Amino acid sequence: MGECSQFDNNEVPFSQRPIVILGAGIIGSATARQLLLNGFPVVLVAEYLPGDQNIYYASAWAGAAWHAAGGITPDQRYLQAVTHRILLKMAQDGPEAGVSIVNAREYLEQKPAPDSAIWGKTVVSKFREMSPGEYPPDFNCAWAYETLVTDPTRHMPYLRKEVESLGGRFIRHRVEALQELYEMFPESRVFINASGWGSKTLTDVQDDKCFPERGQNVFLATDQCNTLYFRNGKEYTYVIPRPLSEGVVLGGVKQQGNLSPEVDMDIARDEIARAHRLAPEIVPEHPAADKVSHIIGIRPSRKGGFRLDSEQKDNRVVLSAYGFGGGGYAFSYGVADALVKMVETAERENVIL
Ligand SMILES: Cc1cc2nc3c(=O)[nH]c(=O)nc-3n(C[C@H](O)[C@H](O)[C@H](O)COP(=O)(O)OP(=O)(O)OC[C@H]3O[C@@H](n4cnc5c(N)ncnc54)[C@H](O)[C@@H]3O)c2cc1C
Repeated sequence: MGECSQFDNNEVPFSQRPIVILGAGIIGSATARQLLLNGFPVVLVAEYLPGDQNIYYASAWAGAAWHAAGGITPDQRYLQAVTHRILLKMAQDGPEAGVSIVNAREYLEQKPAPDSAIWGKTVVSKFREMSPGEYPPDFNCAWAYETLVTDPTRHMPYLRKEVESLGGRFIRHRVEALQELYEMFPESRVFINASGWGSKTLTDVQDDKCFPERGQNVFLATDQCNTLYFRNGKEYTYVIPRPLSEGVVLGGVKQQGNLSPEVDMDIARDEIARAHRLAPEIVPEHPAADKVSHIIGIRPSRKGGFRLDSEQKDNRVVLSAYGFGGGGYAFSYGVADALVKMVETAERENVIL
């Protein structure tokens, strides 16, 4: 054998080996788009694909508002900021992506703590503290600003089209382990696990920190759909406008461990009552039955927060990006951009011998 034997001439060049993504929710699909825009070949493998409506496919059911999360690290804030930048550009480019700029009114039960959602004022437009008299007297303070809402019924099909037109490929297939993907794509070196709740059961992941958190929202058809209302405090209530579908989404509820696909009418009535108290000018006390429909989805939550990391496993790099709970849309494109950088690091380590 000559000195050059470590270089196998029959191997597929690194740049032509697809990056394999498990999961085609907002995290996997946004990551595919950002990778493709950077020239990487991409294949997505998933049981549910954009356009599907299974309750376990959280990305079909999100509100989906951009709201600054409280209690997160500076690096995590930056992921949200990047997401805002990318979604804003989509909104400015027209309605095709299903992203809209809306007014927001956030009412706080308590004075904001330093690690609260207040950091979001560096990201959103037109932030101002509201004056007493502009908001209900039972709140400590209130903020007005512009934010972004993504209509998943439009955004997911848009993303599918984007990914496919950039050369990405979706394969509908359920796997029981990441190992199956290694066998399906023996030449690939970089794998991304964006399987959401699936990471609980994949036999070579079995992340016990993952847990399902059921959400059930009311969709109210109305042409008054340009202002978001958010109650910040112990009570978890929001009114998220969906201008492109001419309605508002009323929530919320988080039910740990509940996997029921049935509408719970007590929850629906309670959400309407809370939303009416928060935004009486938009939500009537007793909306007409033909204006009301219901949304049910399982949030892929994780104790201690989401995973976003890189591991070397034999001659492969496995990137994990799951456990986004109730914030997958607000983190999506920031996570996707971070994953592009992690894939570039993996590429560098494979190419520079
Ligand atoms: C009612 C409700 C309201 C919400 N509101 C908001 C909001 O206002 N703002 C916000 O940011 N977020 C919101 N969310 C949260 C958001 O929907 C999720 O965080 C996000 O959709 C998670 O995306 P994901 O891609 O990680 O997971 P998912 O969308 O669940 O996708 C997981 C993917 O992995 C695939 N998969 C899993 N296991 C396997 C396997 N073994 N084999 C093959 N494929 C597999 C699935 O088929 C799917 O394609 C809300 C969620 C709900 C339910």
